[in-house]
Amino acid sequence: MPDAVVIGAGVNGLVAANLLADAGWSVEVLEAQPTAGGAVRSDTDVADGFVHDTFSAFYPFGAASPVLTDLDLTRYGLRWRHAPAVLGNPLPGGRWALLQRDRQETAAGFERMAPGDGRAWLDLVAQWDRVGTNLMGALLSPFPPVRHGVPLLARLGTEPGLETARMLLITARQLATERFRGEGPGLLLAGNGQHADFSPEGAGSGVFGWIMTMLGQTVGFPAPEGGAGALIAALMARLASQGGVVRTGVEVTDIVVDEGRAVAVTTAEGERVAAEHAVLADVAAPRLYADLVGWEHLPARTHRAMRHFGWDPGTLKVDWALSGPVPWDPAPAVAPGCVHICDGLDELTIESAQVAAGQVPSHPFLLAGQMTTTDPTRSPAGTEAMWAYTHVPQRVRGDAGGEGITGDWDGGDAERFADRVQARIERYAPGFGERVINRRVLSPPELERRDANLVGGAVNAGTAQLHQSLVFRPAGGLGRANTPVRRLYLAGASAHPGGGVHGAPGANAARAALALGRIRRRAQR
Ligand SMILES: Cc1cc2nc3c(=O)[nH]c(=O)nc-3n(C[C@H](O)[C@H](O)[C@H](O)COP(=O)(O)OP(=O)(O)OC[C@H]3O[C@@H](n4cnc5c(N)ncnc54)[C@H](O)[C@@H]3O)c2cc1C
Repeated sequence: MPDAVVIGAGVNGLVAANLLADAGWSVEVLEAQPTAGGAVRSDTDVADGFVHDTFSAFYPFGAASPVLTDLDLTRYGLRWRHAPAVLGNPLPGGRWALLQRDRQETAAGFERMAPGDGRAWLDLVAQWDRVGTNLMGALLSPFPPVRHGVPLLARLGTEPGLETARMLLITARQLATERFRGEGPGLLLAGNGQHADFSPEGAGSGVFGWIMTMLGQTVGFPAPEGGAGALIAALMARLASQGGVVRTGVEVTDIVVDEGRAVAVTTAEGERVAAEHAVLADVAAPRLYADLVGWEHLPARTHRAMRHFGWDPGTLKVDWALSGPVPWDPAPAVAPGCVHICDGLDELTIESAQVAAGQVPSHPFLLAGQMTTTDPTRSPAGTEAMWAYTHVPQRVRGDAGGEGITGDWDGGDAERFADRVQARIERYAPGFGERVINRRVLSPPELERRDANLVGGAVNAGTAQLHQSLVFRPAGGLGRANTPVRRLYLAGASAHPGGGVHGAPGANAARAALALGRIRRRAQR
C-alpha cells in the first residue's frame, strides 16, 4: 500500500507527489487521461511537424515560483525559452505597446508614445523591485504567510509602502490612468488582468495585472523548449527517480471514507487503492466533494459553500499551423511571444461586461501565443505555431456580435466563433488566413473532455476574484489544503493560491500531509 495516493497528474498533483517522495513516502499518482499533465500538455495533432500546447503555454509564475525552482527541473531536461520580446499589443493607428526583456527598452518605447511614460514605467518596476519577491513568496505559501508576509507588511508600513498597499486595492483602469498619459502601459496591465477573470474595473484587477506584468518585465514569459509537455516530462522523470509511480488512464470515482478519514480510492474499473497516510486530490473542489467524497461525509457548511462556488468564465481556444510568420502590419519593432489583441481599455471593459451578462463577446479580447517565435523547435523554420484563446460566458444567453451564436459549441458555434477570433487577428495582420495550413478549435466542452478540472472551459478551477481568493479559496476558511475529511487534501488550482502553473497548491497539500504524518508518528512513539 502506498503512503499516499494522488488523484490527478496535473502540475499540482505531480509537484505534490515529488515533495512526498522527497520526504521518503511511497506515492502512487492516478490520472484519468491517457497522458499526464492536465492543462500542461503539448501535442502534434494540428499539423505534421508542429508542436502545439494544448492548453497553457507561458510560465512566468513557474519561473518565479520557489516551489518549481526548488525542484531543480533543469536537471531533468527542462529548458526555458524566451521570445525576443515578452508581450505586445498592436494598437489602432499602427503602433505597438511592447513589453521587452530590458526595462529600459520597454520604457523607451512608452516614452516615444507619450512623454513621461518612460519614467513612470521605471518607477512602477522599481516599486516591484522593493516588494515583488516577498509578495510572490507570500502569495505562493500557505496561510498565514509568515516568512514573506512579515517583511512585506514591514515595507508596506513605510510611506512608499503605503503607495504599494494602495496598489493591492486599485483597479487596473485607475492604475492605468493615474500613472500613465499614453494608452500602451495601461492596456498591457489591464490585458494581463484578463489572463484571470478581472475586468479593468474589478477589485483586484490592478494588483493581478501589476503582478503578471512585472513578472513579464523581470522573469519574462518563458516557455519550455519542445512544448509545455516538457515541463511535465521533467516532473515525471524527477518523480520516477525518487520511486514515485504514475498510472494514466485510471479515473478515480470515489474516495473511501472510514470514520471521517480518507483511507482509499476506487477507480472506474472497480479497483480499490488504499493509502497508508493520505489522499491528495488535484481535482476541482466542487467535483471532489460532490462526486468523489459524497455529501454524507461532509458538513453542511461545505455543501453550502460549494453551492456558491464561482467558476471563472468559459474559454475557447484556437490553434493554427501557419506556413509563415504572422503578417502583422506594421510588424512590431521586436517580435513578442505573447500577444494581446484589444483595441483599448474601453473595449476590454465592454467585453468583460458582455461575458458577465451571458453574451458571447462582439470583440473578444485575445490572448495569443507565437510559439515558434518563442521556441524555434516548435515548427519548421519560417513557419509559426500559433494559438489564441478568449473568454466566453459559462452560460450563453445571447450573442453581442449579432450572429446568433447560442453556445451550442458542439453544434457548429465553436467554428463560427473561431472565425470571429480569427477576423480579430486578420485586422492587424492582413493575409493571416492565407497562411493557415490547419486550424483546430477547442471549445469549452472539448477542453473539459480533455481535462475534467476545466469545468465549462474555466481555466483557473474557479474565479480568481477576491471573494474567492486567499482565505476564501475554495471557501471561507484558513486558505489551507486541509479538507473536512481527515487525511484528504485539496491539491489542485481550486485551492489557494489558485490557477497558474506555479505548483503552490500541490506543495501546500504535500506539506500539510507531511506535517500530519509527523504528528502521528510522534504520537505513536
Ligand atoms: C487553455 C488554458 C490556458 C492556460 N494558460 C496558462 C498559461 O499560459 N500560464 C499559466 O501559468 N497558466 C495557464 N493556465 C492555467 C494553468 O494551466 C492551470 O491553472 C494549471 O495547469 C492547473 O494545474 P492543476 O494541477 O491544478 O490541474 P490540472 O492541470 O487541471 O490537472 C488536473 C489533472 O487531474 C486529472 N483528474 C481530474 N479528476 C480526476 C479523477 N477523478 N481521476 C483521475 N484523474 C483526475 C485531470 O485529468 C488532470 O490531468 C491555462 C489553462 C488553460 C485551460
